[in-house]
Amino acid sequence: MRFFLIFTFLVLTVQLRASNKVLDIGLFWKEEPTEITIQTANGGYVILGNGREVLRLEDKMIVHIRNVNGLINVHTLSQDLGSFYQVELERTVWGSSLNIQRKGHPKSDEFEDNFEIKPYRGKLRIINHVYIEHYVAGVVESEAGSREPKEYYKVQAVICRTYALNNRRKHEAEGFQLCDKVHCQVYHRKSEANADIVRATQETIGIVIVDSDINLITAAFHSNCGGYTANSEDVWSGRLSYLRERVDDHCLQENHSYWRTSFHRSKWLDYLSVKHRFPVYDEFAQTKALNYCPDEREHYLAYADHQVPFKNIRYDLGLQSAFFSIDAVQDSVILEGWGYGHGVGLCQEGAMNMAKHGHSYDQILHYYYKDVHLVNLSVIDFFRAN
Ligand SMILES: [Zn+2]
Ligand SMILES: [Zn+2]
Repeated sequence: MRFFLIFTFLVLTVQLRASNKVLDIGLFWKEEPTEITIQTANGGYVILGNGREVLRLEDKMIVHIRNVNGLINVHTLSQDLGSFYQVELERTVWGSSLNIQRKGHPKSDEFEDNFEIKPYRGKLRIINHVYIEHYVAGVVESEAGSREPKEYYKVQAVICRTYALNNRRKHEAEGFQLCDKVHCQVYHRKSEANADIVRATQETIGIVIVDSDINLITAAFHSNCGGYTANSEDVWSGRLSYLRERVDDHCLQENHSYWRTSFHRSKWLDYLSVKHRFPVYDEFAQTKALNYCPDEREHYLAYADHQVPFKNIRYDLGLQSAFFSIDAVQDSVILEGWGYGHGVGLCQEGAMNMAKHGHSYDQILHYYYKDVHLVNLSVIDFFRAN
């Protein structure tokens, strides 16, 4: 035991490796601008064109950067600094941040650390080389808003960090690692709305979630599970040991706990018959299709050999969740459902409630992810290097 503690201490105090410290984020992905103006928000920057310094950004100085005939042109109000195939914006001090305003947008957005700008289809490819903890704080604010308890922000910070490191090759072909959209994780700007977000990031610095083989997990989450989370294989193809169904009694009084919708009876039966070949002409099958009330999350509307996955009904009909009851009243069929989202992994509204009621971030993560470990990135580096 003592050896383990000493070992853990030694490993935890090892500095994070450079490869885990900085992420390359493609900003304004699929909305790449043709022209931006930049201004220092904090600290200082130098502008490099083709690797050479062309300007030191003074306070309040505004610089225009645009794509002109496939090159990156840089100019100030009074001076054209030239055109380059690559422009870098390098901070001169730690803690520097830059305001970037896209042409045609009313507001600028503030981002931290360094940038690289290249021509891209007549536009600008802007890559933010950002310290991972700055990125994590930005994502937590973009994804979780600014009104949650700090312990919940710690939960999101660990999930976000785990996701980022697990998906570092997602945009490799485009020359960066992750985009700034929901396709990866939403990253609108530097975190600034609630100081607890930055504190939560710092208090969990370097911590990620791994499975028993010390592999980063797929830290799936959703808005509200409706009282039962789902297995990974119930929604996607693969079974993952840590994404197991479980009862969740922390999310039942929330905005997304409950939903209700209705269809015309004939439209509902036609849908099941045509799309899924469910034998609604059979009296017993029809009874099943019109009256169904689950005690817990089930995966199929089933009769004899016929199985219609609830996840497919959810997708086809745009329902909030795949967890619902069916009740026929005269000409209508009423679906009453629980939860919002795919139901796999962490339930956000449940996790928020656990945080409000005094559970720690690690208790919350262990509640939703089965048999996982929270470790510092340096532990992963240690095991991979040895
Ligand atoms: Zn992406
Ligand atoms: Zn839940």
